[in-house]
Amino acid sequence: MAVGAASPDLYDAIPGYVKKYGFEAEPDRPAKDAHIYQVSGMDCSSCAATLEKHMSGNPDVQSVRVNFSTGKMHIAHTLTADQVVKEVQKSGFDAVPATLRNQKKDDQKAGKALPVTTISGLLLALGFIGSFTAIPEWLVTAFYAAAIAIGGYKPTRSAFYAVKSRSLDMNVLMVTAAIGAALIGEWFEGATVVWLFALGNALQNRSIERTRDSIRSLINLTPSEAVIKTAEGTIVKEVEDVAIHDIMVVKPGEKIPLDGEIIAGRSSLNQAPITGESLPVDKEPGDKVYAGTVNESGSLEVKVTRLSEDTTIARIIHLVEEAQEKKAPTQAFIDRFAAVYTPIVFILALLVMVVPPVAGFGAWGEWFYRGLALLVVACPCALVISTPVAIVSAIGNAARNGVLIKGGTFLEKAGAIKAIAFDKTGTLTEGKPKVTQVISLEEDSETVVSIAKTIEEHSTHPIAQAVISYANERNISSKAGSGFSAIAGKGATAMIGGTEYFAGKPKLFKEMGVSTAHLDEQIDVMQNEGNTLVAVGTREQILGLIAVADTVRDITVRSIEKLKQAGIGEMVMLTGDNEGTAKKMAAETGVDRYFAELMPEDKVTAVKKLQDEGKQVAMVGDGINDAPALATADLGIAMGGAGTDTAMETADIVLMADNLEKLPHTIRLSQKALTIIKQNIWFSLITKLAALMLIFPGYLTLWMAVLSDTGAALIVILNSMRLLRMK
Ligand code: ADP
Ligand code: MG
Repeated sequence: MAVGAASPDLYDAIPGYVKKYGFEAEPDRPAKDAHIYQVSGMDCSSCAATLEKHMSGNPDVQSVRVNFSTGKMHIAHTLTADQVVKEVQKSGFDAVPATLRNQKKDDQKAGKALPVTTISGLLLALGFIGSFTAIPEWLVTAFYAAAIAIGGYKPTRSAFYAVKSRSLDMNVLMVTAAIGAALIGEWFEGATVVWLFALGNALQNRSIERTRDSIRSLINLTPSEAVIKTAEGTIVKEVEDVAIHDIMVVKPGEKIPLDGEIIAGRSSLNQAPITGESLPVDKEPGDKVYAGTVNESGSLEVKVTRLSEDTTIARIIHLVEEAQEKKAPTQAFIDRFAAVYTPIVFILALLVMVVPPVAGFGAWGEWFYRGLALLVVACPCALVISTPVAIVSAIGNAARNGVLIKGGTFLEKAGAIKAIAFDKTGTLTEGKPKVTQVISLEEDSETVVSIAKTIEEHSTHPIAQAVISYANERNISSKAGSGFSAIAGKGATAMIGGTEYFAGKPKLFKEMGVSTAHLDEQIDVMQNEGNTLVAVGTREQILGLIAVADTVRDITVRSIEKLKQAGIGEMVMLTGDNEGTAKKMAAETGVDRYFAELMPEDKVTAVKKLQDEGKQVAMVGDGINDAPALATADLGIAMGGAGTDTAMETADIVLMADNLEKLPHTIRLSQKALTIIKQNIWFSLITKLAALMLIFPGYLTLWMAVLSDTGAALIVILNSMRLLRMK
């Protein structure tokens, strides 16, 4: 089998696919494992950079990117998986290929750093206590030296690789400081630096592991086995071995193993794991169900429509992981800052060690010590992780609530949004309008409905659906028609028996020169009651009117209310519907403003108008018809992501549920993320500044410098993690 231009990932996936369709296939070159690895043991933000540099030094590695906050390494290489793992181990970390299955198994390596820290701490304590007793001086020093050796082994190894690849990371700085302290006989200081650094890192690592787990918990949502119906009865299969069109049997109380379509049975499903919806959803044959959701009441037979790696939840996880690795603008700025800050302070430290004593201001030892303290302060660790951990936590929280935020940029934007524009049909309203009244004018109502049905049968507009259902319920059949076409934003037309007929908004007829004066009052009254009117007629006259009404969802009213509480100053409804209906609906939903009678392209203009008023504007729509307006807005939010893949791929933020329930939470979460990021940045800058100021009068000891460094980093992480827990 030869595959030309297929990507390496696709190449490796082929045998699996072929097998699922019942055949065997083997690649004609050695199989290569996933190109994403989960790395553990990275306990400082600079570790990611160190590993990245180390790996890129290998001639068989084409490109590599390591993300500290997610623990993922993306690598393009021509090595075997084992070689990659070995190479990673050389710089002091562990790696496994990041397949879903591997991630499911919780590796508990995070705790490994603690014994080392404990032993190093004990030795430090022994030395410290010993220094007050009669035990010989050399023994005290030996305790300290041992504490340095044990606690410092790993940072030294990392520092070695960092220096080799010409980077100045915190390992290099800390190790230099510890060695320097020992050189000038400050063994206690050296041991304290090493121990505090190790402790800080171990604690940071534990916390970071917890944020990484927020995604693993999503992965663990799906069962690993499915019960499959066969001619001989049911068998249990691993989900990876289930093929498309297999029939799964799902009993009440069980989770759906794979995406599919119900072919028998009815039940209500708790979709919260995917969509965040608090209420279960009733489903019947023909409806889609998603892997990871819970079958609450009835037994179901489900035809599998997606393989285990393509399910909605698998795609969500994939998109979330991608999103978490995208840098927010703030972060990009901080990284640039850190890139100049560290070398500058490093050079400054060297100068401090040398210049003042040479110039005759004080003793060598004293300035050397200050220089060492400055070295420790040269690492902007807390600042560097001030943003990414907050972003990973917030995106993880959103994902568990059925909301996909496609990156830190959009999280930051959502936190600053001041106005939201909503599409009316299907977003604020149910999107399933019903016929409320038929008014016959020149023809009897049955004929009016019959003509309307003939035209609307070829339309995809929700209104068309309402007319068709109404006709079907009354057994009114359509006529023989031809030449169907939609008139965007206005209606539709068809030829019936040689005459051109139209169904659409009354304005459509006015524009064709049909006199509607005698109907205007009646039309106004009905529209002001919230009806959308479908006039049915020819180029000469209107034959009848069909009134259609859509209901506002309860959840819309509640969500708009909560958005107001979250400080969104302006909420605007955009609709192609008439003024009267728009006004009524606006009042019912509680939005502040509405733009009615919009042609599809006018929605873009309306969004621009809001932007011109000086606001950051978000647009919420269904992601298909509203794509241009979504793209124009500062932030495009699509609804119903679980049902449509395009919405999931294209919008900036995707609400998996087909309603607005989780939008207020998303906005509040984003606002809080912005606040926390700001707090983190200020806090880390101020602690750094304070440390710098204390060095020169000589108040800052080495251990204080380390504490201000790793301690601040830890506080920043813990502060960010509040976003994980936010309800
Ligand atoms: P909206 O999404 O706000 O309903 P549209 O641009 O889809 O906006 O439609 C605007 C208006 O055009 C509708 O409110 C309706 O009055 C009329 N219309 C559009 N298509 C049809 C149709 N197939 N049948 C009847 N009326 C239609
Ligand atoms: Mg629409």
